[in-house]
Amino acid sequence: MARPAFPRSLAEFHASFPDEAACARYLAQSRWPEGFSCPTCDHRDAYVLSKRRLWQCKHCGHQTSPTAGTVLHRTRVPLRPWFQAAYLMSTLTPGLSAVQLQRQLGLATYETAWTMLHRLRRAMVRPVRDRLTGPVEVDESLLGGARAGKRGRGAADKVIVIGAVEVRGEGSGRVRLMTIRAVTQAALEGFVRDNVVEGGLVLTDGLSGYHRLASLGYDHRPEVQGGAGNPRSILPRIHRTFSNLKTWLAGTHHGVGARNVPVYLREFEFRFNRRRTPMAAFQTLLGLTSQHPPQPVRRRRSEAESIR
Ligand SMILES: [Zn+2]
Repeated sequence: MARPAFPRSLAEFHASFPDEAACARYLAQSRWPEGFSCPTCDHRDAYVLSKRRLWQCKHCGHQTSPTAGTVLHRTRVPLRPWFQAAYLMSTLTPGLSAVQLQRQLGLATYETAWTMLHRLRRAMVRPVRDRLTGPVEVDESLLGGARAGKRGRGAADKVIVIGAVEVRGEGSGRVRLMTIRAVTQAALEGFVRDNVVEGGLVLTDGLSGYHRLASLGYDHRPEVQGGAGNPRSILPRIHRTFSNLKTWLAGTHHGVGARNVPVYLREFEFRFNRRRTPMAAFQTLLGLTSQHPPQPVRRRRSEAESIR
């Protein structure tokens, strides 16, 4: 049972997933690439109770749901809109807003679209995050407010974002972004330690808060802005990243309140880090790459979670 190749266009997507049954087949193939195997007795034959999206072992009767542990579990929204939402989210470079999703999928309410997007965004957070490997560029930037600029003394609604991006030839590797309360030595060092492998080469603009990185075991190389004779810009990758982040927030989401910035940073990271692997992004969004095996189903209908 081979999984279908990742659709390269919306037309191909519709051909690959024409209905609920096709989506259910894809889920099962993702869960059991070698074919069904009962988690209780290892028997390999099952009845498919399609209405409830359950697989029942022909030997012991144990019921398993291929959606357990995924965003698709216990939702009344059919599989196909979820697949469409995950596809759009993993292939549209700028992503999409709840209003756009509602329109694209013809959903009855904005709230349903918003809830779906929110669930898919939650799937973007990995429990364990690998640290970046050097060389990396590290810098901070200010989001929000009319006079956005670097390290300004922000008004209440401004948010300080610190970021690191891997230097890979002329291009960029992976990125990490987070908000910090203030540009303090503790915050800067904490970010680098949490996000960059020890001993890595770290490029910064030489802000004093970074000065102790060498004593923490990093190969720290502050780059100082060139004078008139040396106009080359320093840290081009992280500056480009901040610029793209700001454009994305302003364009796709029409600005984002300070409180919600962290969740959008996760989405930006997710998109950026999987920009060359939309298939992996799609499966991660649907929770199909989970390390956990499918969980047995407790048959309490009251647990059913509805999406309004
Ligand atoms: Zn069994």
